[in-house]
Amino acid sequence: MRRIRLGNYPTPTVKLERLSKQMDRTIYIKRDDYSGIELSGNKTRKLEYALGEAMDEACTVIITAGAIQSNHARATAAACRKLGLDCHLVLFGTAPDQQMTGELRYGGNHFLDGVLGATITYLDPSKYSTYLETLASIKNDYAEKGQKAYIVPIGASNAVGTLGYVDCFEEILRGEFDAVLKAGSILAGEKRFDTIVCAVGSGGTFAGLWLGNYLNVERRKILGIAIGADAAHYKQVVLGILENMVVYTDHFQDIEETYDHDEMMAAARKDLWIIDGYQGQGYAIPYDDCLARIKHVAHLEGVVLDPVYTGKAMHGLLTEIESGRLENSKCILFVHTGGVFGSFAFADQPVLTKGK
Ligand SMILES: *Cc1c(COP(=O)(O)O)cnc(C)c1O
Repeated sequence: MRRIRLGNYPTPTVKLERLSKQMDRTIYIKRDDYSGIELSGNKTRKLEYALGEAMDEACTVIITAGAIQSNHARATAAACRKLGLDCHLVLFGTAPDQQMTGELRYGGNHFLDGVLGATITYLDPSKYSTYLETLASIKNDYAEKGQKAYIVPIGASNAVGTLGYVDCFEEILRGEFDAVLKAGSILAGEKRFDTIVCAVGSGGTFAGLWLGNYLNVERRKILGIAIGADAAHYKQVVLGILENMVVYTDHFQDIEETYDHDEMMAAARKDLWIIDGYQGQGYAIPYDDCLARIKHVAHLEGVVLDPVYTGKAMHGLLTEIESGRLENSKCILFVHTGGVFGSFAFADQPVLTKGK
């Protein structure tokens, strides 16, 4: 598979010194939110493969979908411009107009979509379950005009996009190895992560990390925190992505010569570790304990997490540690998947902005 460079890699991995002390664990954070600015966050890695495939197929328009504050939609709009492609976004919500109150919700990513000149179609959120049909009909419209379009599903969490997080897992391994070399001693093996944690939204990030771990026979624990739907649903989503990997198995021959798709699926059915309890009322709905945790980490470490994904994931990780449920996780890597622009939609949340 062709990978098109869109982000700055490797992303930095840094130790959260004070948080580690507080939690009596070693906690590192991988700054995948630093993969760029316009092209920041976890969608950048996935788009490197999805748009690589689109360009191989000589497509000139990319169609994708997301929430009004979708990080994925904004990253896709930026990536398209960088590659000289047109971008058509389908966003779930109503078009903003002058009369709207709470117009803050239309800043952040939505503002950048506009600056980047993406064509936007607004779709009633009740039509979410049939959104792929909407994308297909838009693709037909382009075909009638003689333009070949490529559809990227929500979050670029299909098999091809997920290859970006198989790469990320290997980048994590190389980072550990380099750290040991640099220290000149095996003692620096402190930085060998036993547990890698990420938010689970559309599933591709988790699926890729899990698969990277599997292919490299690493036996790290990959922990996903469900941020919208429940864990049982996400496990099905991840299994679906992994099932579709069968198309891309050539890609794995370098890593694992004896790759066997059925064996991989059997392992996945037994092994996926995604937990519930931190979604709150659902996708993009904030709650005070999570917001307080975001503020706590910001004050302690100068790291800003977002209320939709990484805040819920960090709140989940720290609550699980406090509850004694992660006794076997001593050296943890939290993957910061981005979301800073979406945070601006929460500027009206007093927990985030008031007091210490
Ligand atoms: C999309 C997104 C996620 C979720 O990743 P998935 O691969 O969709 O599960 C996490 N964090 C941020 C900031 C995101 O934009």
